[in-house]
Amino acid sequence: QTTTKPPPLPSPLRFSKFFQSNMRILVTGGAGFIGSHLVDKLMENEKNEVIVVDNFFTGSKDNLKKWIGHPRFELIRHDVTEPLLIEVDQIYHLACPASPIFYKYNPVKTIKTNVIGTLNMLGLAKRVGARILLTSTSEVYGDPLIHPQPETYWGNVNPIGVRSCYDEGKRVAETLMFDYHRQHGIEIRIARIFNTYGPRMNIDDGRVVSNFIAQALRGEPLTVQKPGTQTRSFCYVSDMVDGLVRLMEGENTGPINIGNPGEFTMTELAETVKELIKPDVEIKMVENTPDDPRQRKPDITKSKGITRMGAKGQVAGRPSPYGRGFPFETWSSQVVNAN
Ligand code: NAD
Ligand code: UDP
Ligand code: UDP
Repeated sequence: QTTTKPPPLPSPLRFSKFFQSNMRILVTGGAGFIGSHLVDKLMENEKNEVIVVDNFFTGSKDNLKKWIGHPRFELIRHDVTEPLLIEVDQIYHLACPASPIFYKYNPVKTIKTNVIGTLNMLGLAKRVGARILLTSTSEVYGDPLIHPQPETYWGNVNPIGVRSCYDEGKRVAETLMFDYHRQHGIEIRIARIFNTYGPRMNIDDGRVVSNFIAQALRGEPLTVQKPGTQTRSFCYVSDMVDGLVRLMEGENTGPINIGNPGEFTMTELAETVKELIKPDVEIKMVENTPDDPRQRKPDITKSKGITRMGAKGQVAGRPSPYGRGFPFETWSSQVVNAN
């Protein structure tokens, strides 16, 4: 006598494809800066249902107010360091404070969010068969000794410094992603996000672009942290969100750099903001914080292939008046109009 084993239950990913039903997508940290723009993009597709999970540490309901009450949208107050039982097809895992002043405020909580939070989301992905994308960071390269940074570079990171809760936390999160992939066959995607800017950045969170613009609008001196020759490469948020969705939908696990290779010193950035907003504002040199990376610029050779980014790193290929892919005027004009 032979017994036939019942077929395994379909995973929600296969289930929604089979029945042509809606794709149910979880966005952790969806009330934050990048997360809320991602939600806007995902909600444009009528086949998507979006569930946001956020503890509102640095994000706010205000960022999502246009979706509250929408039949395809749900907002849950939840901390990802606690287990979460829901049924979803895809997980965009963004939950984590991103600005140095907030991630240093409670470093133990930051590392718990990165490690336990990512473990829980991987446990969830494993249980329901969902694909999971982690938003890692260019900070995994630390103070890089290779420039620009390709994904193959292992980084130069201080394991015991004040930034370690964030950069080492993200490195462990990446390790967990690959261990769940190898050990349990979870479908993973890892994005290494470079500095991103745009509307809904928290005006008081100390990040350089929002700081300079807020200072210029208030007529206060722009505070360039010494030496001012340190560099960053800034990507506009809509381009970032395009890249994240393309990575999720594509076949490559990553890690993959997503960013704009247009590189600026902080002094150049201050001068650009000054020129655009208030030419008579003062630029003041102030003390820096420990372990500030001296240079950062993504090598986007790999992401150009995968996310079809333009030659200047802009997914949408918008030309920049500044020649280095910095579509800066878009946001500053919105900020000026809002004030
Ligand atoms: P953000 O601070 O605006 O958003 C993070 C969101 O996560 C917030 O809504 C916050 O309330 C939520 N959150 C934090 N801890 C949580 C927890 N324990 N449980 C549930 N929710 C929690 O930051 P962002 O700029 O939108 O960054 C989003 C992601 O992108 C982060 O993972 C960050 O590390 C990554 N990233 C951002 C940048 C950038 O330039 N903005 C650069 C590199 C990487
Ligand atoms: N987890 C979760 N939601 C789920 C499934 C798991 O939050 O739907 C959490 C679970 O509490 C655990 C973590 O994810 O802490 C890792 O789960 P896994 O099943 O991989 O490991 P185990 O529970 O066997 O330690
Ligand atoms: N920075 C600055 N003035 C400010 C805030 C930041 O010169 O008011 C510098 C900071 O020293 C760093 C760069 O801007 O070199 C980017 O800092 P941010 O906190 O925005 O991002 P991250 O350090 O995470 O790249």
